[in-house]
Amino acid sequence: MATIVESGTPRAWAVDEALGRLLDAERGRQRDCLNLLAGENVMAPAVHQLLGSAFAEKYAEGYPGRRHHTGCGPADAVEELAARRAEALFGAVHANVQPYSGSVALLAAAAALLKPGDSVLAMSVAHGGHLTSGSAANFSGRWFDVAGYGVRRADGRIDLDQVRDLARAHRPKVLLAGAIAYPRAIDWAAFREIADEVGAFLVADAAQTLGLSAAGLIASPVPHADVVVGVSHKLLGGPRGGFLLCTRELAERIDRAVFPFVQGGPMVNQLAAKAYIFGQADRPAFGDYAAQCVANAQVLAEGLAAEGFRPLTGGTDTHLVTVDAEATGLTGRELELRAEEAGLLLGRCAVPFAPTPPSEAAGLRMGTAWTTSQGLREPELEHVARLIGRIARGDRGAAGEIRELAQSTKPQCGESASF
Ligand SMILES: *Cc1c(COP(=O)(O)O)cnc(C)c1O
Repeated sequence: MATIVESGTPRAWAVDEALGRLLDAERGRQRDCLNLLAGENVMAPAVHQLLGSAFAEKYAEGYPGRRHHTGCGPADAVEELAARRAEALFGAVHANVQPYSGSVALLAAAAALLKPGDSVLAMSVAHGGHLTSGSAANFSGRWFDVAGYGVRRADGRIDLDQVRDLARAHRPKVLLAGAIAYPRAIDWAAFREIADEVGAFLVADAAQTLGLSAAGLIASPVPHADVVVGVSHKLLGGPRGGFLLCTRELAERIDRAVFPFVQGGPMVNQLAAKAYIFGQADRPAFGDYAAQCVANAQVLAEGLAAEGFRPLTGGTDTHLVTVDAEATGLTGRELELRAEEAGLLLGRCAVPFAPTPPSEAAGLRMGTAWTTSQGLREPELEHVARLIGRIARGDRGAAGEIRELAQSTKPQCGESASF
């Protein structure tokens, strides 16, 4: 009987033509469009190879040296390597690299520090917080008593006075800082002070920006937070997956929360790919890449302002750009669909204080991780901003230029990358 996938041979997909066609379609899609989705990045061939490597088969429940399965010699060494490299890269005392994803890492952090019904203070989802910051559809909103802080109407920055007032009134057990749609560096020290005043743990959800901190471009939450949540994909360009950094005091609680409370066996192939990317991100080339992501985002924000969009907070300190699209007369959803039709991927995003419902949204969110991995620089991002302006004005000629720009850029997924 034929195997479904004969790995490593181009003939593999002759065995399952339907899937072969889908894989081709996905590769073609990636080649033909410009990708400004904030959470996506091109992965290096080594990451693809490690994800598809022999480590994928291995079960290794537990931690190095204390597994529930035998045959874990190489798996132990891989996990140790990933954890020690994460600790070195981010300057942390303890790393747990097992979480399957960022959301699962947040669930584990909650499990380590909270009981159902406990109070949490987090960035409100309407102002840029992730679902795990108290959405009613998520475990966070269902199992905890979550109060939400937001940004100031005047300048779009996090309102630390409001955070302090809510902390005093709500007495949270966990103060959760971090967001998906906030383009500015976060003042972790100020959050620490507020957490200390009310006796709360400080958890930093730094999934978007921890890579920039590792590169020294923005302040790191690691010296301030009790627990830091990160992901190895997004800006870091590694495998999809989460990880946790914490203090010595919380190390055991965090480890037991990840396994056996939330997860079963870690994905050893994912651990290997994490180890790889934590090693690469400690090299100067990654610092150059991260700085270029920020420079590209700043040019994109300025270019979009010139096209009539209003950058939230007036600009960006990171690889993220969020804009209010009100002046275009279109909702974020309408713009997102128009852009997709023209071969450009970006995301709709809620604009704080705007009445537009989240499903439509008044704004857009973009990130420069993917395009920067492809080698795009400031002049190209300026061009991209103009193209987005043309799409908003209904100019159908933009699609051809987008495809040309996309196809001229390298690397594509799995072919080659800067790290
Ligand atoms: C991406 C992200 C998450 C969730 O990560 P997943 O791997 O998608 O589960 C959580 N918080 C923030 C701030 C993120 O950017």
